[in-house]
Amino acid sequence: MRPLQGMRLVAATGNAHKLREIERITADFGIELISKSDAGIADLDVEETGETFEENSFLKANEIMKATGMAAIADDSGLMVDALDGAPGVYSSRFAGKDGDDEANNRKLMELMKDVPDGQRGAKFVSVITLCTPEGDVITAKGESPGRIGRIPAGTNGFGYDPLFIPDRYDGRTYAEITDEEKNVISHRANALRALKEILSGDEES
Ligand code: IMP
Repeated sequence: MRPLQGMRLVAATGNAHKLREIERITADFGIELISKSDAGIADLDVEETGETFEENSFLKANEIMKATGMAAIADDSGLMVDALDGAPGVYSSRFAGKDGDDEANNRKLMELMKDVPDGQRGAKFVSVITLCTPEGDVITAKGESPGRIGRIPAGTNGFGYDPLFIPDRYDGRTYAEITDEEKNVISHRANALRALKEILSGDEES
């Protein structure tokens, strides 16, 4: 498998926030990133029938690779809360029922966490990125970002659970209060993409 450098890749996401993050994180990877709409498949939504981030990430990358004939990368990600035994996990985007209803998801999370004491509010974001190529290569990389769940939403940047997630770094500010640049230094998605780059450059130690 050749290094990422110089590759043309379709980003298998319809989520504009995720796409922007992926574009910024990979800006110095030397790849040409193509959106689903630029690849002519804006309406192709892959059903996430898997039970793990790995399965869903593969399902998305593989289907988009087959539909376009080009190499594709997909992110499957979510929030795992200690006090909820890892929920919402792969169901993060449909935690409250409707897919992608961030407000309802955050309300449900706040409600479930309202009696959880400060010392037990640990959580982490997880991202699994899969790259599928038409030649049959499948590469998977994982990234995490540790933190805790706040009691009330704070901040307006970002998407999803950003207003309730307080990463271990950045002095108590939520993901929705830090800048895009700060998030891209520590985020699960950034860590997964950097791990993918390292795997492909055969340099997993650096
Ligand atoms: P996916 O499209 O199935 O990977 O859904 C990921 C879901 O996890 C999103 O809809 C969000 O609810 C949540 N999520 C993943 N990454 C983030 C993030 O960086 N910030 C906030 N929420 C996120």
